[in-house]
Amino acid sequence: MNDVKTHCDLLDNITRKDLQQIRTGLRQAFIRSNYKGEFLRTKRVEVIRYKTNGDTAKRPYIKYECIKCLKLYSITEINVDHIDKVGAFNDVLSIKDFFFNIWCEYSNLQILCKDCHKLKTKYERSKF
Ligand SMILES: [Zn+2]
Repeated sequence: MNDVKTHCDLLDNITRKDLQQIRTGLRQAFIRSNYKGEFLRTKRVEVIRYKTNGDTAKRPYIKYECIKCLKLYSITEINVDHIDKVGAFNDVLSIKDFFFNIWCEYSNLQILCKDCHKLKTKYERSKF
């Protein structure tokens, strides 16, 4: 077994800035993950695209519906939002909980357009 006291001593070396960078890194890893990509694939909406001559184009537009305003958006206009927010990461010993807050069940993820996502984030921040 590891010596707990030594670990506690080592934890003292981790600064707030280190924790913030770990938080940012984990969030970025999630954003680029296959797991998130698979979630998006389950949510894609194909919209028929017409050529200028009125013919149907071979490839449709791939769109995603914002769960709030119900409009369709392209991939660059949406965010994958955690319904229960990921929360802060202030304590290295809570990394496992934090990790699973990010890599959560699909039922805790939703598509929001960037405007609706901004509003939600603003609202959540105002609550605390
Ligand atoms: Zn929206």
